[in-house]
Amino acid sequence: MTAILHIVGAGLSGLATAVAASQTGHKVRLYEAAGHAGGRCRSFHDPVLDRVIDNGAHLVLGVNRNALAFATAIGGIQAMDALPAHIAFAHLRQGWRRTVTPRHMPVSLAEALRACRPWIGQSVTVAEHLGHRQGFADFWQPLCLAILNTAPQHASAQLFARVLRTILLAGKDGLRGYAFPHGLSAALIDPALALLRRNGGEIHFHHRLTAISQSKLTFTPNDIPLTAADRVVLALPAWVAADFVPQQIQLPTETIANVHYRLASAPDIPSPLGLLGGVGQWLFVRDDVASVTISAAIAAPDPVALWAEIAPLLGQEPPIPPHRVVWEKRATLSHRPHVLNHRPGTLSGLEGVFLAGDWLASPWPCTIESAISSGLMAARAALGRDDLRFS
Ligand SMILES: Cc1cc2nc3c(=O)[nH]c(=O)nc-3n(C[C@H](O)[C@H](O)[C@H](O)COP(=O)(O)OP(=O)(O)OC[C@H]3O[C@@H](n4cnc5c(N)ncnc54)[C@H](O)[C@@H]3O)c2cc1C
Repeated sequence: MTAILHIVGAGLSGLATAVAASQTGHKVRLYEAAGHAGGRCRSFHDPVLDRVIDNGAHLVLGVNRNALAFATAIGGIQAMDALPAHIAFAHLRQGWRRTVTPRHMPVSLAEALRACRPWIGQSVTVAEHLGHRQGFADFWQPLCLAILNTAPQHASAQLFARVLRTILLAGKDGLRGYAFPHGLSAALIDPALALLRRNGGEIHFHHRLTAISQSKLTFTPNDIPLTAADRVVLALPAWVAADFVPQQIQLPTETIANVHYRLASAPDIPSPLGLLGGVGQWLFVRDDVASVTISAAIAAPDPVALWAEIAPLLGQEPPIPPHRVVWEKRATLSHRPHVLNHRPGTLSGLEGVFLAGDWLASPWPCTIESAISSGLMAARAALGRDDLRFS
């Protein structure tokens, strides 16, 4: 009987596992609780805006090698736009605009070197490390929220420094953003599903895993028997995987809120635009839809107050246009020093069962890059093929 790789969870980590394995000719079955793939990275048609929107605006960077390799392998890269290798910021209260590159940072060289340095104590937070520096409020704080989705008072300074070093050492293209002009699903999800189907993979939606044993996977609605040669990858979010994996504790998470506005016309404005001095932190524009992101949001966003912040930048007049709030309550792990010690590796502790997911041990915080990298590593471990690549 042919061995099957069973993958539970059709978010990016599960899709990456499935794509990598199916490219070798291995038989793959993907199970997903929802009626659609993509998990925390997906598009949908919103009836209020009458537009396809993403659950939250996402950005991939040039330094995210596995994410770009995956997008290239599935053909989704054609639905992504390479942006200029800089980040534009606008200060909402002081009115200035600024463009930041690795060579042109709004802080002193000494401060930048301090932020990136490798020798930072494991338990140190970003606020402890950089809070007393001049550039904290207008640079390090928003950057920390953008990169780690965790307030500087809680976020790991070690992880923050590691990500900054990786971006800066990647050369001029490291900071180049890749946007999704047709939505996340058009670039990262739909082409992956199409490739899997072409490779003979099976995709089963509305299959929620409820139990796992040596001989079967129990789903609502039915059991799937396992042979001794079969392998299983659990590509589940941390809070779900903890129910199935021995000794995995529940880890704290952070939210991300997005408010999407349908504008009267498409504005001419750089996107993304970092917002300083207000409640919203990033403004993304796609045609006539403007989306404001609030990382690590602790309260439901107020669409009226956010509109008042961004309307002048967009050159739009009151009243507030049609809008939609998407508040992802568990968007990423909370990247606190003690939490990082509990990010596990690919081995689950159960025979023949492997883990994938953005929350696994990684040089990256929970991101598209960590999710896709974890999927590739899970495929390698499950098939015993260290040579697997996205091709
Ligand atoms: C609003 C928002 C903005 C973000 N912005 C960025 C960004 O700009 N850049 C970036 O790199 N990253 C960003 N991220 C993070 C990125 O989206 C995630 O890291 C990534 O999508 C996680 O993929 P995953 O496969 O690990 O997990 P998930 O996407 O959570 O996939 C897990 C899948 O398992 C399914 N599932 C759950 N329980 C079961 C069960 N019992 N049985 C079967 N299936 C089950 C779920 O439905 C889901 O489809 C953002 C996330 C959010 C929410």
